[in-house]
Amino acid sequence: LSERLQAALQKLRGKGKVTEADVKAAMREVRLALLEADVNFKVVKEFIDRVRERAVGQEVLKSLTPGQQVIKVVNEELTRLMGGEQSKLTFAQRPPTVIMMVGLQGAGKTTTTGKLARLLKKQNRKPLLVAGDVYRPAAIRQLQVLGEQVGVPVFSMGDKESPVRIAAEGVARAKEEGCDVVLIDTAGRLHVDEAMMAELREIREEVQPHEILLVVDAMTGQDAVNVAENFHRELGLTGVVLTKLDGDTRGGAALSVKAVTDCPIKFVGMGEKLDSLEPFHPERMASRILGMGDVLTLIEKAQAAVDQERAKELERKMRTQQFTFDDFLEQLQQVRKMGPLDELLGMIPGMGQLKGMKNLQIDEKQLARVEAIIRSMTPEEKRRPEILNASRRRRIALGSGTSVQDVNRLIKQFEDMKKMMKQFTAMTKGGKKKKRGG
Ligand code: GDP
Ligand code: MG
Repeated sequence: LSERLQAALQKLRGKGKVTEADVKAAMREVRLALLEADVNFKVVKEFIDRVRERAVGQEVLKSLTPGQQVIKVVNEELTRLMGGEQSKLTFAQRPPTVIMMVGLQGAGKTTTTGKLARLLKKQNRKPLLVAGDVYRPAAIRQLQVLGEQVGVPVFSMGDKESPVRIAAEGVARAKEEGCDVVLIDTAGRLHVDEAMMAELREIREEVQPHEILLVVDAMTGQDAVNVAENFHRELGLTGVVLTKLDGDTRGGAALSVKAVTDCPIKFVGMGEKLDSLEPFHPERMASRILGMGDVLTLIEKAQAAVDQERAKELERKMRTQQFTFDDFLEQLQQVRKMGPLDELLGMIPGMGQLKGMKNLQIDEKQLARVEAIIRSMTPEEKRRPEILNASRRRRIALGSGTSVQDVNRLIKQFEDMKKMMKQFTAMTKGGKKKKRGG
């Protein structure tokens, strides 16, 4: 599907204008991509409406490359929807900072507690882990093993005490021992139920945590949203940790969870190992959800190559017939970065109509040769190709390791191009007042 999406967006590339129908078509694909990535239906609808509104408006129509602009809007909006900036943990003014880990059974709470302790320790903090899951067999042992692996102390009172008491004692212990962060691992159930919520609320009242982090399994897709909604309503979450993103999920849950609960995603789990907890980056997730890593590099490329100022300067040169071999070479180098020359031309303002013209279709293989030829010219020759007589052409061919025919062909191409520009300039002069895309 991501291929189809790309194809739809590609179609927009290099067009002079983007019509509402174009955007609509692209949005259909984006919509499918989102749904397939398990993004909540309502979220998708709102998102699409918003992008369409932005994309069909001025912003796109005025831009140099409407296709890229649409991609950019989609990506920006996705990123914004997921919080835009990276969201960090809140630390207490007066330590210890108390962090409660909550979530369903198997989501990855205990593992994440260990991973987080490791991260915090690396930031020179002194965490204490508190074993608050007294129900699941071996849960305490699991936390103790993790604590040993990351070199962080674990506070436990066995499985006979109430989790509320354990949490309170754990915080007290942290104060005694000078630990500045307390991570409380709690018990989950297979489904959201009232007994679990009641217990978590009690713990919350008792220890007044600075962070309540919900751990959710990204693989559960839509369910993750319901779970997050429930936990948020019952407890008031401060953040979400999305685990198991190393699986083949597109991670649409990230988008939905944030959109539905408005809780920032603070970390993502990328594997079973202890070093696989990472801060959440909205922009990376945006491209993952759309499955458009390539499209992002495309945007970057387009932005680099179609530097607006350069394009304008070039256009001015064309109009005033000052286009030289240096400019030509610069263009060729951009072609190298970009892809086919005619596509590049499509991005230069006013050049869209030259697309597909025969003499402009330079074979990629020839590019190196062309470059060598131009580099063998003197500055004077590059500025004034008319002085390129037979002996100069021979010298250039020798210097560039090409043949005189190659040199002749290039000069012919260049002259053709200039001629075309001249015609084109004459053609558009009358219509200049007509605003692009207006
Ligand atoms: P809890 O019941 O919420 O405490 O969940 P656990 O911490 O016991 O984790 C349940 C399972 O999920 C374990 O097998 C973990 O190794 C695994 N797990 C946790 N986080 C991740 C992750 O980010 N990626 C993968 N692949 N597995 C994870
Ligand atoms: Mg656990």
